[in-house]
Amino acid sequence: MTQLLQLTQPDPVDWCEANIQLDYGRFDRTKHPLLSEPLRAGAHMRGGVVGILGSVQHIKTLAAQLLQLYRAQTAPTRQAHYDLTLQTIKEFSEDKWQPLLKNTKAVVDLIPDERKAQTTYYTSMPFGFIRLASAGILAHRNSKTFEFVSADESWAYEKSWLKQIRDRTSSYPWSWSMFLPTSGQTAGSELDDLWASSTQRTWHVKCDCCGEEIPYVWTTDAKKGEHSLGGMKFASGDEARNEDGSLNLEAIRATVEYECQLCGGRMPWNPADVARRNLAGRYVQMNPNGDEKIDFYHYNAMAHHQWPDLAVMWHQAIAAKNRGSLDDLENVVRKRLCQPWDEAKYIAVDSKIESAGDYEIGDAWEQADFYFCTVDVQKDHFYYVIRAWCKNGESRLIEAHKAVSDMHIAERCDHYGIAQDGLDPGGRGCQVFADGNYNSAEVQRICAKNGWMVLRGQNCKPFRYPDGTFKIYGEQQLIDTWQGTDINTGAVQYCGQFQYSVPETRLRLSTIRGMTEPRLWTHARNAGVNYVNQLNSWMQVAKEDPRTGRTYFDFKRVKGRADHFYDTERMQLVCAAMAGLIGMSVEQNEEEKH
Ligand SMILES: [Zn+2]
Repeated sequence: MTQLLQLTQPDPVDWCEANIQLDYGRFDRTKHPLLSEPLRAGAHMRGGVVGILGSVQHIKTLAAQLLQLYRAQTAPTRQAHYDLTLQTIKEFSEDKWQPLLKNTKAVVDLIPDERKAQTTYYTSMPFGFIRLASAGILAHRNSKTFEFVSADESWAYEKSWLKQIRDRTSSYPWSWSMFLPTSGQTAGSELDDLWASSTQRTWHVKCDCCGEEIPYVWTTDAKKGEHSLGGMKFASGDEARNEDGSLNLEAIRATVEYECQLCGGRMPWNPADVARRNLAGRYVQMNPNGDEKIDFYHYNAMAHHQWPDLAVMWHQAIAAKNRGSLDDLENVVRKRLCQPWDEAKYIAVDSKIESAGDYEIGDAWEQADFYFCTVDVQKDHFYYVIRAWCKNGESRLIEAHKAVSDMHIAERCDHYGIAQDGLDPGGRGCQVFADGNYNSAEVQRICAKNGWMVLRGQNCKPFRYPDGTFKIYGEQQLIDTWQGTDINTGAVQYCGQFQYSVPETRLRLSTIRGMTEPRLWTHARNAGVNYVNQLNSWMQVAKEDPRTGRTYFDFKRVKGRADHFYDTERMQLVCAAMAGLIGMSVEQNEEEKH
């Protein structure tokens, strides 16, 4: 099959040189050394996917257009090209696709001379068509059958979009093919899975010093303090700063050079050298077990972009990161280095706030007005935190432990005189709250038994009350725990439950921990490394809303870190809000909220 195709079809690079007109003149393969191999793979693939993970959008989009035109003339069929939204595909059609098409006489000559044979989203040929579609529109992902599909910037697609688009080709079990030009993927995404099982062909050039083939890498792994051999080297630390602390861009630009990861030889920045190395470069398969039907090509900006600019971008992105925003760094990693983006990897754990107070677990606190106990329920054990609160909002950690039974927690609460009278109108109230999001029915049963209340965290905004105020928790709900009727009173056994806003508790915990004059929120100095690690399991990240340019805050979990004590401490803030100790109601300005 493949042989037959090679016999009957011209080489796509030859074809482009014969038929494609670009802004600089006839298509010239020496101007696009990174494109020849992916173009050939894309033209020959049947029953599989060819991907090109690379920097600079226009090169990759050009590759998709060239393949669409090449197919249209050499083996026309039902073809489609996807972009993210209807707006982007419309702009693509007007700015890139139609001008290129009109300059490609070999294809224009095929288009029937009739109305609507060539429109914004559709190009007709005698034995096929090319449809432009939006990946973001469900009807576009689900309708029509195609044999050849290209899908641009699929790193930005939501879960299962690629699979849905791929399903459009199932009428062609042997001959379908897909071409995916994209920037760096999100770690753990559909595209990342494809990359992992692919051939992972990576752009290599010969080192000027040792002559060995190497891929350009930004950095190599090195333990702290060790010198890492290889990668882009440029001024850092004090050398990269002016006296006032701002970035010294000239110093950064002037010091850029590439260090070979094999021999340590240095290659200074020179665009002519980069172009020369590329002409002798090639893609090398890095995954020996890669699926030949998932044939992926990878290059990064070091193979074609100004190195001094990249070094400056990197410094600026790191500076922005240190101010709490990861947006610039994400752009550099995805769109320049074309590496998988994993936010959690770049969140600095050492930015955590020191919250240890000058007291120990179990120490009595005379000034306390309230004690609350919050419980995180796991499959066969519990995490609980007892925290004492003052009316001025100051609080101290009294206990934070793991427990194997609810009885143990009830006993510790009795020890501190914490109320456990549930809904009993004649009781002292309830100051124990358990998280009911996991195994809800069991938690409700435990709560009814012990006179505790259930908290249910929701990913939502604060709750609006009838008087127009907002609170981080909703109104009390009564839950029938289905334990039958109480023999003495005839009452059904209920427990109380409150919904609350998880994002608000994250924000408030972060805010209250950040208050140092005076320091309101502390934990016992001997709370233990496990407690402290879990407390710092979620990091606050500043983000910019691309539509409004406004900064807002998001929270990301530190990879691989348990967060039970963090959750119980968040729940303490709901208790404190209920008791009126901290921001009881929120005056909300809709415009400021996200
Ligand atoms: Zn070398």
